[in-house]
Amino acid sequence: MRFRTRAIHAGQPPDPLTGAVNVPVYLSSTFAQSAPNRTKGYVYSRSGNPTRAVLERALAEVEGGRTGLAFSSGLGALATLLEHFPSKSRIVAIDDLYGGTWRLFEHHQRQFGLEFDYVDMTRTEPLARALERPAAMVYLESPTNPLMRLADLTRVARLAHRAGALVAVDNTFATPALQRPIERGADVVLHSTTKYLGGHSDVIGGALIVQDRELGERLLWLQNAVGAVPSPFDCFLVLRGLKTLGIRMDAHTESARAVAEVLAGSRKVSEVHYPGLTSHPQHALARRQMDGYGGMLSASLSGGFPAVRRFLKALEVFTLAESLGGVESLIDHPAKMTHASVPRAERVARGISDGLLRFSCGIEDPADLADDVRRALSRA
Ligand SMILES: *Cc1c(COP(=O)(O)O)cnc(C)c1O
Repeated sequence: MRFRTRAIHAGQPPDPLTGAVNVPVYLSSTFAQSAPNRTKGYVYSRSGNPTRAVLERALAEVEGGRTGLAFSSGLGALATLLEHFPSKSRIVAIDDLYGGTWRLFEHHQRQFGLEFDYVDMTRTEPLARALERPAAMVYLESPTNPLMRLADLTRVARLAHRAGALVAVDNTFATPALQRPIERGADVVLHSTTKYLGGHSDVIGGALIVQDRELGERLLWLQNAVGAVPSPFDCFLVLRGLKTLGIRMDAHTESARAVAEVLAGSRKVSEVHYPGLTSHPQHALARRQMDGYGGMLSASLSGGFPAVRRFLKALEVFTLAESLGGVESLIDHPAKMTHASVPRAERVARGISDGLLRFSCGIEDPADLADDVRRALSRA
């Protein structure tokens, strides 16, 4: 079946007991046993919960993996994945990463013996060179945040596997509606379900989806051993979001295109980063690898921070806030907000100037979003 149908039905038959078309929220920490160790499949809700099990099945189905695992946050999912690797393991990561991911790698895990190297994965050569030394995992995002660069997932997976490394892809920006990394050779997909999968800015959650049965079993063991699990109610919210993911991503894409065109046509904007524009350096790869270009984009105002301040003040529909992927449009100033922890020199070297803005285009009427940006540009 096709994506939109699967997102609504996969792993979610009507409740066998009552016929309820939505899975009940099983608010129970423990489950009765008819004799010691004789259960109906559930023992204790850290180890497993019926509402969570439905979400995990649905996540596995939409990403095309075997095992789905739900977590209390995206970073909870990542921290649990990292527990899989013994100390001294080396992880080769993309050089444009979500700030919290970078913080967990550099300011925490490094002290406990994991090694991290960062490479540009928009080209083959730097990754091939990095993989001449043993590596346990290649970790990447595509498109990246906030510069919307792409990595060729098939090529990264081929290089990594040749070097004996696992491949994990943070698919938060694209979502399985637009990009399914496991189909392109990835071993693990990670999500912050806080973003598009939840979709309504009302829940914090994370997920891992795994193809290999043994790795899936190992991560299920770690999920229980570490315990960063979501509440049954949060699982219900993510499941509800997932059902409309397909139509929302189409609407997000339509909004982003409208906003990108206004920005690209303005003299006050020096650069627009959106994979859907033919001017994007990897537009051809985006067409090949994605089923749509998504709702995220970034752009630089030529007037720097003073122009940014005037622009933000004039916006009426976009809200200045961190996070992304909700139905409402949000705007972020990476240098002072989401990426403030990256030292200035490195930020500038990476292209995150003081004039850069990141747009999470919501599902309001695209014409209203375009008008909002046009009006704000006239004041910038
Ligand atoms: C938000 C985000 C995360 C972290 O997820 P949380 O749910 O906030 O813990 C990881 N990766 C990306 C790309 C994100 O946007």
